[in-house]
This record gives sequence, structure tokens and C-alpha cells, in this order.
Amino acid sequence: MKRALVCGAGGFIAGHLVKRLKADGYWVRGVDIKAPEFSPSSADEFLLLDLRDAAQCRQALLMKNGSATDFDAVYQLAADMGGMGFIHSAECEIMHNSALVNNNMIDAAATLGAKRYFFSSSVCIYRDMAPGEPELTEEQAYPALPDNEYGWEKLYAERMALAYGRRYNIAVRIARFQNCYGPEGTWTGGREKAPAAICRKVAEADDGTIEVWGDGSAIRSYTYVDDMVDGIRRLMDSSVEGPTNIGTPEYVSVQQLVDAVAEAAGKRIGARYVPGPVGVQSRNFSNAKIYSTGWQPRVSLREGIGKTYPWIESQVRMARDRGDGAQALAATGPRPPRGKKASRT
Ligand code: NAD
Repeated sequence: MKRALVCGAGGFIAGHLVKRLKADGYWVRGVDIKAPEFSPSSADEFLLLDLRDAAQCRQALLMKNGSATDFDAVYQLAADMGGMGFIHSAECEIMHNSALVNNNMIDAAATLGAKRYFFSSSVCIYRDMAPGEPELTEEQAYPALPDNEYGWEKLYAERMALAYGRRYNIAVRIARFQNCYGPEGTWTGGREKAPAAICRKVAEADDGTIEVWGDGSAIRSYTYVDDMVDGIRRLMDSSVEGPTNIGTPEYVSVQQLVDAVAEAAGKRIGARYVPGPVGVQSRNFSNAKIYSTGWQPRVSLREGIGKTYPWIESQVRMARDRGDGAQALAATGPRPPRGKKASRT
């Protein structure tokens, strides 16, 4: 039986990846600094470890009695991360914590003999683009000009993983994810990304108006989590080398995202645009590399939001029923980074 280690398995994308690996017949060990928030992990074994620590990265890869584990695949999706609000307010924590995780994890995997290593990078490594600009290929990430420190950390971590791939006998695969959304993603507290935040606001909206950061014109693509996980699996099993974009080519404005959520909710919703961290103006990336693996996105934004909105609406309802609604719903600013005092943000 093939064995996979999934780092960040207490989180959104890696939690879904564990389910997919189980369906693909793998024995899976999940590790994270926290347990999954919304449902028990599907992993055969789940270890609570802080991967900023080099010794704990090695522990993640070793058997419990200390002997070497023969992992066929290591998926590294652990990161101190969140949506734009978090990225702009917690840049020191993001650079510090995620760089430690990435440096220590690739070193442990390469030196302990893991065969294949997947790293979850982001399209945040690219420069800003103007609407209508022709698509960028992966190579056009250079000369580099990421919009935020989260992107710079990812770029460094990509290069770190590639350097280990050149030195050691470990096959490195790197995906640059576009925005990903779906059920069981963070939906409140300050780390949530735009699709989840808009779903939550629409679920809460009584008067038909929600506040949205920016002016509604920013262009993005939003990839449903099942499609993203399919891309991860295909890339990992492929011979495609070097960073590889994964994301649906369905590009929409933030206003169109709001409209898709309103439609799924069956509500008439108006957006009141307010100043806030939005990030880049536009995105448009080549998918030729990931298409060469046979990957194609299957879920449109309309279908994906149609699956995500009911889940977030049920979370909002449960929070209200538990009586923590007022607290959850009032959370507008980023939650302090894990393990840090509130004053740091
Ligand atoms: P997530 O926050 O849901 O999952 C990340 C997990 O990493 C969390 O469960 C967190 O507890 C864990 N983690 C953080 N620090 C850790 C530590 N020191 N030790 C162990 N675990 C730790 O995020 P996600 O959306 O599932 O993202 C997964 C990966 O994909 C990340 O690398 C992220 O940067 C990347 N990515 C995500 C998106 C997106 O739209 N969600 C887009 C681009 C890239």
C-alpha cells in the first residue's frame, strides 16, 4: 500500500486532499498544529506537530518507534495563511512561520529519503496585471514582483524545494494555486478568503446589503476544492517539473462573485464597496502545463458556489444557535496569528 504524509491536514485543502488520497488507496498520515475544525480527519493517523520546529518535521516523517518511514509522497500544504485582510496585517508572522515550516520540511523529507515532495505555492508570486493582459506563463514570474510578502515567501520556498530536488534524490512538484474555495474552508475570524467571506455576509444579510472591500472590479479565478485536489494529485503523479499553475480559466470580477453568491442564496443583494485590502487588480495565467497532465476543471463558479453557500449558511445558523453568533458575526478584523498575542496584529 502506498503511503502519503500530508502536512497541514487540519486545514482546508489538505483536509480534502486526505479524503482523495484515501479514495485513491493510500495509507495517510496527517500532521498539523491543530485538529481539523469541521469534521474528523480521514487520515489513518493524525499527529499534532509544530512544523516550524526541525525536530518535529523529522518526527512527522519517522515511525513512532523512530525507524525510517517509507513515504512515497509528502504533500506540504501547512502555512500560516489567510485572505487579503490577514496577508496585509500579519506579514511578519507569515514570512517567519511559513518560511520555517518550508525550510525544515523539505530538509527533513530530502534527508530522510522521501521519494516525492509536493509544495503548495500560490499565484500571489506573480506581479499585478492589467485587465485584458495576455496570460503569463510560469517562467514569466521573473523578474519577480509579488504584490505582498506572502508571495515573496512562497517564491523563496519554491526555490528552496527546487534546490533540494537538484541535490537529493527527491522528485519535487510545485503547484501555484489560484484562489480555492469550497465547504470546510475558514469562513469567519479574519483568515477567510473572499468567496467564504461573501457567502458569510450574504447568509447574515437581513437588509439585502453587504459590505465588500474594494470597488468590485478586481478580476480573479476561483477554483472549487475538488478540482484543486484533482490538479494536485495529477501533478504529483506526473513527470511535469517546475512550478505549475492550477486554476480554472473562468475569470470573474468581485461583483460577479457577489452575484453568484446572491443567486445561490436566492436573495437580492447589493454590495456597498468600502476601502480595504484587495490585492492585485487582475489575473490571467497559462494552464498549459497542468492541462498536459489531463487536468481540466469540472466545476463552474455557479456550481461551486451552489455547493459552498449552503455549507457556510449552515455554519452561520449553527453559530447563532450556539449563541456565539454575535461574536462570530461581529468578527471583521483578522484574528491574531496562531500562537501570537493580539497586540502583534
Ligand atoms: P489552511 O489555513 O486551511 O491550511 C493550512 C494549515 O496549515 C492549517 O490547518 C494550519 O493549522 C497549518 N499550519 C500552520 N502553521 C503550522 C505549523 N507551524 N505546523 C503545522 N501546521 C501548521 O489553508 P489552505 O487554504 O488549506 O491552504 C493550503 C496551502 O495552499 C497553503 O500553503 C496556502 O498558502 C496554499 N494556497 C491556498 C490558496 C487558497 O485559496 N486557499 C491559494 C493559494 C495557495
